[in-house]
Amino acid sequence: MAAAPPTIDDLGELRGRRVLVRSDLNVPLDGDRITDDGRVRASVPTLRTLSERGARVIVVAHLGRPKGAPEAKYSLAPVARRLGELLGDEVAFATDTTGDSARSTVDGLGDGQVAVLENVRFNPGETSKDEGERAAFAEELAALVGPDGAFVSDGFGVVHRKQASVYDVAQLLPHAMGGLVAAEVDVLRRLTEDPQRPYAVVLGGSKVSDKLGVIDNLLGKADRLLIGGGMVFTFLKAQGHEVGTSLLEEDQLDTCREYLARAEASGVQIVLPTDVVVAPRFAADAPPTVVPADAMPSDQIGLDIGPDSAKAFAAALADARTVFWNGPMGVFEFASFAAGTRAVAQALTEIDGLSVVGGGDSAAAVRTLGFEESSFGHISTGGGASLEYLEGKVLPGIDVLKGTNP
Ligand code: ADP
Ligand code: MG
Repeated sequence: MAAAPPTIDDLGELRGRRVLVRSDLNVPLDGDRITDDGRVRASVPTLRTLSERGARVIVVAHLGRPKGAPEAKYSLAPVARRLGELLGDEVAFATDTTGDSARSTVDGLGDGQVAVLENVRFNPGETSKDEGERAAFAEELAALVGPDGAFVSDGFGVVHRKQASVYDVAQLLPHAMGGLVAAEVDVLRRLTEDPQRPYAVVLGGSKVSDKLGVIDNLLGKADRLLIGGGMVFTFLKAQGHEVGTSLLEEDQLDTCREYLARAEASGVQIVLPTDVVVAPRFAADAPPTVVPADAMPSDQIGLDIGPDSAKAFAAALADARTVFWNGPMGVFEFASFAAGTRAVAQALTEIDGLSVVGGGDSAAAVRTLGFEESSFGHISTGGGASLEYLEGKVLPGIDVLKGTNP
């Protein structure tokens, strides 16, 4: 990532101008109740900045995975209400994205006011693989703000997607990254370009195959790689250990062996658990037992790293100056199997340097285990986007912002 994209300051005077903002408001809902409003809260500062500068702010966002047509359960209406509460001001809501409701809602905005458009993924053009279809929908979005308008990209969770409201529309309007995207990009740079050392990476979560690219790229950058969670059993098996009924990706055994060998050859320290919390079945009330990592019973499933491992992981993080953590150490959703994740989270809060939590479930774990978000250097709002960046991939939604402003 060479030149940094323009920021909101580069857009010049905003008073009275319509600004289309791509935010990430994709929150978990239970009916129309938001169960974790983290992403809405993370979107507020940029919207407030634009509003304070007198812009007429039009928020475009998605919720869930509708199939290019309206579906009531994916309406952004509850999210618009929550956004209004957080902004402390009324937020207008358009019941379509670029139709009559959107046009009249936008026409009704005064300087500094904010509107939210209905779920952008109700429109097939948003995620179409057909460039022409996407471009046509992007034209509709751009038309809402008119020739004097601007586009602000602030939905970090979607910048790895080549979609109309993320990528194509940026080519049609003067554009900038919002404060959230700017902060995320800054942190990712610090994790990849000249990180402060020791640099430790902690990986967990359910699948090795999700994280192969990251391991591959960071093996050349990190000093220590700590592995826990469901993915660790493929590594333990690759070392020849019995893993019982734990998560296992047989087809990744060779890759894991190759990573272990490469780490050894390049002097990267790999830290694997020496003990594991196992249970007879995957359930919240299954009785937990701690066993050595090289002696797991064949009829038990590994659901967390053990207490000795939790201590060793914390020790391996204690003197680090840069830590990136993605993926819970165990099934933290079940109280009996949350201790490993809690220990790693606690260790991150005590680091003298940059601590970054990436990944939707990891961020949720930090919050549900009761940690203050402010005890971490950064909690990323975009799991997939952070991982793709750390794999060394180009993020289309960031890359497009470096293009010349039309
Ligand atoms: P993130 O969203 O932070 O990137 P993942 O989606 O990769 O994380 O993984 C999160 C999930 O991994 C959690 O729901 C957690 O319960 C699960 N998990 C962690 N350890 C294990 C394990 N030992 N067995 C099964 N699932 C696990
Ligand atoms: Mg996840």
